[in-house]
Amino acid sequence: LDPEALASESTAVMNFLAEYYRDVDKYPVRAANLEPGRLRALLPEAAPELGEPMEAVLEDVRRDILPGLTHWQSPRFFAYFPLNASAAGLAGEMLSAGLNVVPFLWAASPAAAELEAVVVDWMAQLFGLPRRFTFSGGGGGGVLQGSTCEAAVCTLAAARDRQLARLGHEAIARLVVYSSDQTHATFQKGARLVGIPPSNFRVIPTSAASGYGLAAAAVREAVERDAAAGLVPLYLCATVGTTGLCAVDPVRELGEVARAHGMWMHVDAAFAGSAAVCPEFQGYLDGAELADSVSMNPHKWFLTNMDCCCLWVAEPRALISALSTDPEYLKNVGIDDSTGKPAAIDYKDWQISMTRRFRAIKLWVVLRRYGAAGMRAHIRRHVAAAQWFEQAVEADERFEMVVPSRFSLVCFRMAPRCVHDHDAAANRANRDLLAAVNASGQAFMTHFVVDGKFLLRLAVGGASTELQHVKEVWELLQSMADQVLQRYHQ
Ligand code: PLP
Repeated sequence: LDPEALASESTAVMNFLAEYYRDVDKYPVRAANLEPGRLRALLPEAAPELGEPMEAVLEDVRRDILPGLTHWQSPRFFAYFPLNASAAGLAGEMLSAGLNVVPFLWAASPAAAELEAVVVDWMAQLFGLPRRFTFSGGGGGGVLQGSTCEAAVCTLAAARDRQLARLGHEAIARLVVYSSDQTHATFQKGARLVGIPPSNFRVIPTSAASGYGLAAAAVREAVERDAAAGLVPLYLCATVGTTGLCAVDPVRELGEVARAHGMWMHVDAAFAGSAAVCPEFQGYLDGAELADSVSMNPHKWFLTNMDCCCLWVAEPRALISALSTDPEYLKNVGIDDSTGKPAAIDYKDWQISMTRRFRAIKLWVVLRRYGAAGMRAHIRRHVAAAQWFEQAVEADERFEMVVPSRFSLVCFRMAPRCVHDHDAAANRANRDLLAAVNASGQAFMTHFVVDGKFLLRLAVGGASTELQHVKEVWELLQSMADQVLQRYHQ
């Protein structure tokens, strides 16, 4: 790596990105051209034989790539759950990529491994997690992975091996995993990957009565039925902030069921976990001391650029024994680790891949630059904007809320009473409304379906999204609703 080239090329890229962020609000939020194959037709059929100047590369990004992107960092991006970027997150990402060290063994990059252990402890403290999940509190600890999907696979593997050590490997066909119909599909994928028979993955229905949270009584009943049939309850996923509706499962009650039946309980707080930096949201994690593991993604709503998922476990031994390997080429030869101090963490044994990124420096830069107070302000700004939108929906007789807004997600629709009082017609009209909003390029939202109701999701969480953008998308929805409803009344 040539330091001069590093300085000039990174400056060119930073200037390019600064211009992009200055203009991002002007682009159509969703990719304007959704024709598959558009980019392939624009690019040469083979890589260049000779290297080209950075300016030429950036010019092609501007001309060919940007028009084909959906602009996740637009302040008018309200789809899925947004992914945060910030100057601090990007600076941290640059440090991580620039230093390019690999903390898979403590000895392979001691300060990187130790910073990770410090940062996950800081995060646990900020979110009010029980001390048993921290290195400093004794016993537990955390790791930074790339996604909740990885955290699901790793914790499922740990739970599986803990049970099989007791029951013998043949028992794998009897292990059962429990989730709700609102749990993220990543847990079903994870269960498949660790060898749980697909027929042993239970999807327990939720209902409006429990706010689409997973009822502990329903889990208890399913577990008792399975145990009576000779199956082995293994793992329960509780979610704080489900993807579709931001529903919250009752962590304490579920934890009690899990404890009573010797199950591993994981708390998935991928998006909403960030809100726990505010004391007023920490109650949703009440009972987390009964869980075996907890995860959340700072890259969703914690101003941290992709990728970053915090996973905490109460009993690292279970994780390590499921995931550790000990090849000769990765032995800590020449290092005196006889003290067994927690600083000597070989993070390769806490995750799927061996080679791993120095994510800790990114999250550390974000925490240092914003501080807890800055983070709380960021979360509260979005929650307030979502509440404003909810009140606007409630004040307009053409619309209705489908569930009360939680955190910063608003789930709403045009009311069936405006579309001939007919559910199927209301669903079609709401689909049309969503398509019209997204085709306008002025905002991007996605949908969900619950109890047969097609609803629009306004996920407020983009790092540069302000109340003003939420007000503007509401105006857009109102005028487009008029147009859509006119068509249904012709
Ligand atoms: N869990 C919840 C509640 C989510 O909302 C998401 C993604 O939005 C996931 C899990 C999956 O996260 P990842 O993409 O990090 O695997």
